[in-house]
Amino acid sequence: MLHDSRSITVNDYEKEVTVEGWAQEVRNLGGISFLILRDRYGVVQITAPKKKITPEIMQAITSLSRESVVRVTGTVRASAQVKSGYEIIPSALIVQSPSATPLPMGVVDKVDVEMDTRFNHRYMDLRKPEVRSIFEIKSLTMRLIDEYLADNAFVEIFTPKLVASGAEGGSTLFKVDYFGKVAYLAQSPQLYKQMLMSTGLDRVFEIGPAFRAEPSDTARHVSEFISFDGEMAHIDSQEDVMAMIEGCTQFVISEVKERGARALEMIGSEVVLPKAPYPILSYEKAVGMVQGAGFKIELGEDLGTEGEKLLGDLMAQDGNEMYWIVEYPEEAKPFYIMEKDGTPYSYSFDLDYRGQEISSGGQREHRYDRLVQRMEKKGLELSSFEFYLNSFAYGMPAHGGWGLGVERMVQKMLGLPNIRETILFPRDRNRLVP
Ligand code: ATP
Ligand code: MG
Repeated sequence: MLHDSRSITVNDYEKEVTVEGWAQEVRNLGGISFLILRDRYGVVQITAPKKKITPEIMQAITSLSRESVVRVTGTVRASAQVKSGYEIIPSALIVQSPSATPLPMGVVDKVDVEMDTRFNHRYMDLRKPEVRSIFEIKSLTMRLIDEYLADNAFVEIFTPKLVASGAEGGSTLFKVDYFGKVAYLAQSPQLYKQMLMSTGLDRVFEIGPAFRAEPSDTARHVSEFISFDGEMAHIDSQEDVMAMIEGCTQFVISEVKERGARALEMIGSEVVLPKAPYPILSYEKAVGMVQGAGFKIELGEDLGTEGEKLLGDLMAQDGNEMYWIVEYPEEAKPFYIMEKDGTPYSYSFDLDYRGQEISSGGQREHRYDRLVQRMEKKGLELSSFEFYLNSFAYGMPAHGGWGLGVERMVQKMLGLPNIRETILFPRDRNRLVP
């Protein structure tokens, strides 16, 4: 069995081990050569004193190119000079895959590499432990969401990603040819998760890709992202939904701190558990706050990137990193959101994290006639939504739900400047390869 940089302990000293990794650094000092071998968990030092090793090994080390994959067998020896406390004296060395030179980009060099160069050579970029660790945290985040929702009786669902109509407005749909018919890539599981509310599967969630043809180049938009969607029936108000998300985000962040401590250290991020309960601001109040700080915005308008950021700064003054904005104008919200009768507002919410929206949701319109009215008001072609509307005609309980962008949450949790840092192979207007 192979050892790795994490599994070698004092119990292995003076014993033979085999390790495998990338040649991060090779130093030849004449009488002695050093090879720093990097694996997933760290590095091991291979120390090769000319007198103690075969000429073949010496030859292999001195001619080794950086980033080649090497398998080394040797004896572990205690060494005070090495950070890990040991080194390996090689008795066999196989170059399993030599690396070409020059490298498309450095792995350990301190020079700043442009984001584009990094993403063009993502397989190289991901050799950096601080970059790779982001994906361990993302994976952990998904598992924790799963855990929390399973504990709350949610059923995990998988809805179609090839669909015949959009739920979030037509402008951001990607069109595909579906056996000669027009189909779209799903922007969200909205229609399907709502239909399930009529079945008795009264708490469902999905973590899956969502596709949006976002024309804007921003640090928080990509055209393919992972959406964490939930929907719950028999609610009294949208506050039931908000409580679920708040519980879930608090659980995820506190457990990431615990279980992800090693990866967080690699990334250099200190995760802070947001103050709870999260403050609730009405949309009107939020607009008033940013207006008060000199921001130009009219009631009814979207806060936008700058407005959200400013609000985040204002909330941070009282130590609030997560906060709700509720009761948006119904006009600004999709057709499926319930109107707050007698006002221009709606039963809707956004959850913002450090000045950026990470989730939107609300109570849905479950009353058939009102839903039809709302769809007509929004100018939707009812015939395209018949499959959806039908599920409201034969007994549909009150329900509500949310969509939360997993990458936006991870980005903000880790304090990263751009959502793309949390996506292995990001998709945006300018990027389809790799
Ligand atoms: P924004 O106003 O920031 O463009 P939105 O309000 O259009 O977002 P929603 O339809 O509310 O987005 O989607 C729910 C969640 O999905 C958002 O809160 C966000 O976390 C995530 N999300 C939406 N669009 C994108 C995108 N293009 N890239 C990454 N995440 C997204
Ligand atoms: Mg939104």
